Amino acid sequence: MVRRRSGADTGAPRWATFDCYGTLIDWNGGIRRELARVFGEAEADAKLHRYHELEPVIEQDGSLSYAEVLTEAMRQLGAAEADAPSLAASLPSWPAFPEVRTALEEVRARGWKLVILSNTDPAFIEASKKLIGVPFEETIVAADIGSYKPGHKHWEEFFSRTGADPKRHVHVAASLFHDITPANELGIPSVWINRLAETPGPLAQPTRELLELTGLADALDGIVPADSEDATTSKPGRSKIEMPMTETRIDVQVESTQTPPANEKHPNTCPGCGSHYRDDELTTTLYVCGQCGHHFPMPSHARIAWLTDPGSFEEDAVGVRSGDPLSFFDLRSYGERLAEAELNTGLGEALVIGSGTIDGRPLELAVMDFSFMGGSMGSAVGEKFVRAADAAIERGIPLLAVPSSGGARMQEGIFSLMQLPKTVAAVEDMHDAGLPFFVVMAHPTTAGVLASFASLGDVTVAEPGALIAFTGRRVIEGTTREKLPDDFGKAEQNLRFGHLDTILPRSEQRQYLSRLLKLFGR
Ligand SMILES: [Zn+2]
Repeated sequence: MVRRRSGADTGAPRWATFDCYGTLIDWNGGIRRELARVFGEAEADAKLHRYHELEPVIEQDGSLSYAEVLTEAMRQLGAAEADAPSLAASLPSWPAFPEVRTALEEVRARGWKLVILSNTDPAFIEASKKLIGVPFEETIVAADIGSYKPGHKHWEEFFSRTGADPKRHVHVAASLFHDITPANELGIPSVWINRLAETPGPLAQPTRELLELTGLADALDGIVPADSEDATTSKPGRSKIEMPMTETRIDVQVESTQTPPANEKHPNTCPGCGSHYRDDELTTTLYVCGQCGHHFPMPSHARIAWLTDPGSFEEDAVGVRSGDPLSFFDLRSYGERLAEAELNTGLGEALVIGSGTIDGRPLELAVMDFSFMGGSMGSAVGEKFVRAADAAIERGIPLLAVPSSGGARMQEGIFSLMQLPKTVAAVEDMHDAGLPFFVVMAHPTTAGVLASFASLGDVTVAEPGALIAFTGRRVIEGTTREKLPDDFGKAEQNLRFGHLDTILPRSEQRQYLSRLLKLFGR
């Protein structure tokens, strides 16, 4: 079925190491089946959810194998001792094996040597290897390889024992827990089989990303070509045209974090005209395209620095952070996602508040940052907005809000929805105090934020081209089955409908706000 490519064995051997081996063969699905057997099908999903919460807690110190972690988790989930799961025994009913076999057969046929790196228990690995039926050159099992901590010493031992060349080695993370960090730290290229289409964490940088197992052999060859060290044989890539492909080969999208796919533009490429800018060019043009005037997202601190007098801004409530009232978990915990957003943006939350002056006139600012979890409004954003309004009232000065948000933060459920009345009440307090509230809507101002404080400005300005709508085009068209106008939800349409006072390019906003402060200020 699979024919060997000529030239596949030239040069030094190529090694592919499979980490998170259990996930490769659908460990998660296997656990769910065990949970369904012990607790019944109706409870399986809820128990699996709870299992994923327990697992990192039990595994924390890295001293237990996955089998021991699983047994302890089952005990904590309320299973009797006699019901301890036997994953190895249930393996033949797992559906993942034919797919894994096809992928690994092709990888081997192209001359790769295979290694398992795992902290799953040895009996489980041996049983699953039999089912896959593809030989592995090395099986490294150690409890402390752990999905959450680097296992450097095992790699170093592997390289010294086998004499493998790290440059001709690819780490394959087949992952729910994309543990690519050790490979990154050791400079080993990696393929991440991201079946769940997760976003990589801030520390993990896979060389290639696959959404399915199909295409694995091509991805590996793309990183270390078969004959890359043998200059006398054909050029890398040439064999691709000459060689017969396997009958089972399916073309799939191969994504790489280093070269974005063609349909996904670089964030510094203008969606309006295709011009591309360096970071420093965007900072000097207020993040506006010099060719067509497209307004790129502007980081909150850059915006505040542009609007306010130099050195006048003093940030407040820097330490306010969201809690995790629902212990929300979707593949990863909400707490982990918050930490990741903070690492990526350098911000504590999606809203920055504080006081400053424009042309010497004081005001309070509340500026959202879309880069922090899509500018979503959870309890911390609501609280910070209220504190900004309270500070404005205490000092008798105007409040400026710059919303840029996808809406309420779903991870906080009802607590996020409660921020709508909470922020609206704060705007009411501003009105009762006779103080003006200005809004500059940046792209996108949508959903729960549009439905609360963002729509309540005494003067409402928008940036050109900003999306200002409760719901996006795709959802409305899908629901109503009607074609929406081309400018649906754009600032320009909102202006026609009377929702806005004006649309102003970023470069004119400072002067405009200065005039408003002069007219409305006390
Ligand atoms: Zn442009």
